[in-house]
Formats: sequence, structure tokens, C-alpha cells
Amino acid sequence: MHDPAALRSLHQKRFQAEPELFFAPGRVNLIGEHTDYAEGFVMPAAIEFATLAGISPRSDGKVVLYSENFGTEHSFDAAALPAQATKHWTDYPLGVLAVLAGKGHRIPALSLSLWGDVPLGSGLSSSAAVEVATALAVTSLLGVEYARPVLARLCQRAENEFVGASSGIMDQFISANGAEDHALLLDCRDLSFKLAPIPHGVALVIANTMVKHSVAGGEYTTRRAEVEAACAVIARHRPEVRFLRDATVSDLAQWGAEMSPNALKRARHVITENLRTVAAADALMRHDMKELGRLMAEAHHSYSQDFEGSCVEADAMVALAQDLPGLIGARLTGGGFGGCTINLVEREHAAEFAEALGARYSSEIGIVPQVHICHASGGANRIS
Ligand code: ADP
Ligand code: MG
Repeated sequence: MHDPAALRSLHQKRFQAEPELFFAPGRVNLIGEHTDYAEGFVMPAAIEFATLAGISPRSDGKVVLYSENFGTEHSFDAAALPAQATKHWTDYPLGVLAVLAGKGHRIPALSLSLWGDVPLGSGLSSSAAVEVATALAVTSLLGVEYARPVLARLCQRAENEFVGASSGIMDQFISANGAEDHALLLDCRDLSFKLAPIPHGVALVIANTMVKHSVAGGEYTTRRAEVEAACAVIARHRPEVRFLRDATVSDLAQWGAEMSPNALKRARHVITENLRTVAAADALMRHDMKELGRLMAEAHHSYSQDFEGSCVEADAMVALAQDLPGLIGARLTGGGFGGCTINLVEREHAAEFAEALGARYSSEIGIVPQVHICHASGGANRIS
């Protein structure tokens, strides 16, 4: 995480005002991919990469936003904030302001400065970190406090309704609710959750394939349609099934023939992934790392073969990790078609693991990957 003192002094110099400081972390999903919109389970952890937000009131009726990452400052009339996105970084904080305004809050004149070290657009959720840090900062200035799950929902709405990205609740939820040294099993149906301890001797090694295939957007839409089509087939026979969360593998055995081959495979991924995610949390609770690793391997296979959400580079990154000393489990994490893999690695082997994996991937794929050794970190908070 960037040095809060550096953001404080940057904010002071730029705005001649003393800021209140907040931070919100990025995240990595350990298991549970494409289960969120099926009202199923996910199990992410917050990581030490975070976005810092500094906020101070103004007396000129303006909302002024500055990002040190982008190096640009933008000024708006607090009484007439933009109602629409412009495909600019300011969409994320403005989205949060729009959602808060929609809840009846009068947005005061303010200066907001942002500075994050979550790699942008790598699937580690820099966007949720910006939203949650902004929401904490602005609600603090307003003198109101929302329960964390509610705050996460507000931020998700900012991303869905204002920015226009159809993300689930996972990113904002874990950024707002993460706990040091724990993964969080989240039930996306009712937002109930349970923390599962990650042993001290285990590192989260995040390997960025450095590719994001441009099919991602279109394929995401197709996958969602296939998942919904499969669910509709099951619902014809069992009307109580509203989402694949409610379906079972025996439903697929009985009615799979009425689905397109692709819909059947996508549904099999989602249904089995839900089971694996719950089982993975149980394994963590029991400190059964071998079982967790096995579930992660199975999850990757399912993601790659049934969901067809992987790519050559991500499959290579997972395959190249398999015989490295210290590996517990490896899989592609995030929305798919590139991005990062998550590797659970015995901490004593983490440094050599990261180096060897990077070298293997470079020589096999011809791209130098970024490999980060992380640990599960706490959720968003005020910095005193
Ligand atoms: P991810 O969430 O995986 O990092 P997204 O595409 O969802 O990728 O979000 C990345 C976008 O979030 C950036 O392009 C930028 O608009 C915004 N963003 C992230 N971090 C910052 C920051 N520190 N300052 C300003 N905008 C940011
Ligand atoms: Mg994002």
C-alpha cells in the first residue's frame, strides 16, 4: 500500500487543506468463478494492494477530484454533478456520489485525492477499491455511517448503474469486509458470509499473465446467456429453481439432453463450482490444505474445459506451477480470458516459487509476467 503520509502531503499541497484519509484494498478470488450471478458462493481475500483516498471540505461549491495515478484533476459543480458516465476514471468516484445523492444525501463541496497501487485493469479490482475508498471518505464527510454490506451494495450500484459495468457484488464486498489472514466465503444470495483463516505459513502468489483477450466482453455475455438458458430448462421441470444456485448435478443428468451442449457444460461448471467453493471453505476451516489444493485444481479444469473461460496463457501459467516446490493449489482467478492466476504456496517457498514461475512463463510464452507475493489483508478503513 502507498504511504498514507505521502498522500496526506500531496493533498495538503494541492488543496491547502488537511485531509481525512481512508483506504480500501483490492482482492483476489481463491475459488468460485462465475457463481456470483447464479446467486452462489465465492471465496475471495483482500490483498495488501489498496487505494488511498484523502478528503477535505471546500467552500466554493465545487467537487474536485484528483488521481495521482492518472495525474489529472477535474472540477464539477457540487449542485449539478454529472448524471452520466464519460468513460473516464472520474466515472468511479462520480458513480459513488450519484448513488449517494440518489439515497437523498446532499453532496457537499469537497476535494478528493486518490492514489492506489492495485494494478489497474489486471483483475485485482482496482475499481472496487476506488469506489469503496471514495464511499468511506464521502460518507465520513457527510457524517453518516452505512453497515459494510450496505456500503458494498452502494458501490456495486455505482459500478453497475453509473459506470455501466455488469459486475457482481464480490469485489466491493470483500474490499469493504475483508479480514487480515482470512478468506471470506460469501453467499451472493443473501450476503451472509463466514471468515475462513488462511494459515500463516501460506502465501497468496498472484501471477499476472499480462494478457486480456479482447473476446472477454462478448464471451461474458454469451456465457451468461448459456447459463440462463440451462437454468430455464431445469426451471421448466422444477419451478423452484430460480438460479443455478438452486440446481444440482442430478438435474443436469435428468434434463441436460434438453440443453444445448454448451449450455450443459457452462451449467456443469457453475453447479460444481458452487459445491467446490463451499467445500474449499470447509477445507480451510479444517486446515486441510491438501484438499483445498485439490479443489483449486478441479476448479481450474472446470473453468478451462467446461466454462471455456481460460486461454492458452492462463492454462500455461497454471500448468507451469504444478511441479514447483511449495505449491498447494493454482487456478485462473477473475472473469477469465487472461488476467491473473492465484497460487497458494507454502510461504517458505514463495520467493523461489515466484521467480521460477516467472522464468518458466517467460520462456514458454515470451511475455515477462508480474508475480506478486501477497497475504490476506484487512478490509477498508479510516487511516488515523
Ligand atoms: P480492475 O478493477 O480489474 O482493476 P477495471 O477495468 O474494473 O479493472 O477498473 C480499472 C479502472 O478503475 C481504471 O481504468 C480507472 O478508471 C479506475 N481506477 C482504478 N484505480 C484508480 C485510481 N487510483 N485513480 C483513478 N481511477 C482509478
Ligand atoms: Mg473492476
